Amino acid sequence: MCGELRASDAGRRVTLAGWANARRDHGGLVFIDLRDHTGIVQLVVRPENDAVAHDVRNEFVLQAEGEVVARAPEAKNPNLPTGGVEVQVDRLRIVSTSDPLPFQIGDESVDEVLRLRYRYLDMRSERMQRNLRLNHAIINAIRRTMDELDFVDVWTPSMTKGTPEGARDFLVPVRLQPGKFYALAQSPQLFKQLCMVGGLDRYYQIATCWRDEDLRADRQFEFRQLDLEMSFVQREAVLDVLERCMVASFEAVGREAPSLPFPRMSYAEAIARYGTDKPDLRFGLEIEDATEATRGSQFGVFASAPVVRYVVAPRAFSRADLARLEEIAKEWGAKGLAYLVNDDGEIRSSIAKFLSEQELAVFTGGPGTTTLFAAGDEPIVARVLGGLRTHLGRELGLTDTGAEVFHWVVDFPLFERDEDTGQWTFLHHPFTAPMPGSEAFEDDPGSALSQHYDLIWNGWELGSGSIRIHDAEMQQAVFRVMGLGEEEQRAKFGFLLDALRMGAPPHGGFAAGIDRVVALMAGEPDIRQVVAFPKVASGSDPLTGAPTPMPDTVLRELGIKSIVDAAKD
Ligand code: ASP
Repeated sequence: MCGELRASDAGRRVTLAGWANARRDHGGLVFIDLRDHTGIVQLVVRPENDAVAHDVRNEFVLQAEGEVVARAPEAKNPNLPTGGVEVQVDRLRIVSTSDPLPFQIGDESVDEVLRLRYRYLDMRSERMQRNLRLNHAIINAIRRTMDELDFVDVWTPSMTKGTPEGARDFLVPVRLQPGKFYALAQSPQLFKQLCMVGGLDRYYQIATCWRDEDLRADRQFEFRQLDLEMSFVQREAVLDVLERCMVASFEAVGREAPSLPFPRMSYAEAIARYGTDKPDLRFGLEIEDATEATRGSQFGVFASAPVVRYVVAPRAFSRADLARLEEIAKEWGAKGLAYLVNDDGEIRSSIAKFLSEQELAVFTGGPGTTTLFAAGDEPIVARVLGGLRTHLGRELGLTDTGAEVFHWVVDFPLFERDEDTGQWTFLHHPFTAPMPGSEAFEDDPGSALSQHYDLIWNGWELGSGSIRIHDAEMQQAVFRVMGLGEEEQRAKFGFLLDALRMGAPPHGGFAAGIDRVVALMAGEPDIRQVVAFPKVASGSDPLTGAPTPMPDTVLRELGIKSIVDAAKD
């Protein structure tokens, strides 16, 4: 391969194939940098040997035969691993030509949509080669680990009945039954549970999942999960499998593995201290509670708020900084942002005049700090300060520690209120079992805890899982809390309820987003950089131009009539 040749290869006759990375015409002599995925090597073509060298342009595909020779000391290129040698070519063949490219291979300043429009060119870059191969290495390591642990790879259908994972379904019309639709599986959740009822005991799959959600840095419409399920287990056995897979992934890419076991933190603690159920623990900046301390405050907003909390940021922010932070706080649901800036002993504050000496003493941080407050209902206060904390962690460079911090969040609530309808709904999915002690959840859904757990890496949620309900009566109780009547339960989940009545073993499992693992391993800011052909935020695929409108004749066959003019829209 091009990138493998070293001084010790001098004298060997080689045949290389690859892309012309650059060509330098020195009168008679032509130098060509030939590139394949292993790297670049310099070819030297003498005029008497081959005239086609003059016709070579960037990104032509070439095949070259010749002898590896050591370069003279002054001609060595210390910047290339192959810089000690070059190949004296005596036969050069242009295998394929190339039009001038829309961008230079590896140019990092190219607009991402353009990169995706020509993804096959973008893939020739070192970055994409590295990322896609890293993806492969990690999946391999996971497969090996799962095999060693006696998991069985079972394929489950993509086209199914909706699986509630909290997103919208992508629908597939069925020509043989016009007017009816399959949903693309949001996950293999129910199938893997049915595998347990089927006695498979340890199931896994690198499963593709489809979810109709807004696309973000860590979200695509379709993505792959390490999906697993185990029978006769408790939580710790499931967490142990995931921890082993993460260690194997680090080892597969030659990095020092994080130490085991990963710490566990309860959901309640995560929300109180970090304002989120996926805290980035690479830095402190913990949220402090001021509810008690402000009960008798002269500042009415604090005194009357159900909850008052604050963070102390290690920076004396300017007015302009504070205005920006206030905007961010508002995006998270705050009405305003109260602050105390300690500018080397001098206090700047919107609220200092309302606070007592004692309150000031408690809340004011050291010189060069800013205390930021949120007051109101607990979920909003947590969300606002959690959002500010994450933002500040990034902006102040607190996350640049080089550390890789994994942890589990456990003991989630079983239900939460839907913000729009006020109806109780599941936090993870409706198949999650309550914690021992929370079985009577119908009496007080809001205080029931569940056996749901999440794995977090540097503030990214890698995945979720739970111990499941394996009892039909209990499953129906959850459906009832969610407001599903008997008839709707049968219509939507009858097949599951039947299975739970026919010898269902206790079971639990997990699903981890592979693209997220790979992106974090690669140090990439989003998963698009580790997916071969991702879609952009609008939901389009810049390469093929999909999605596209369909002719009426096609739609009619499927029993579908469009009410929008997609061509015009
Ligand atoms: N089906 C869940 C998900 O995709 C994972 C699980 O509970 O195993 O998030």
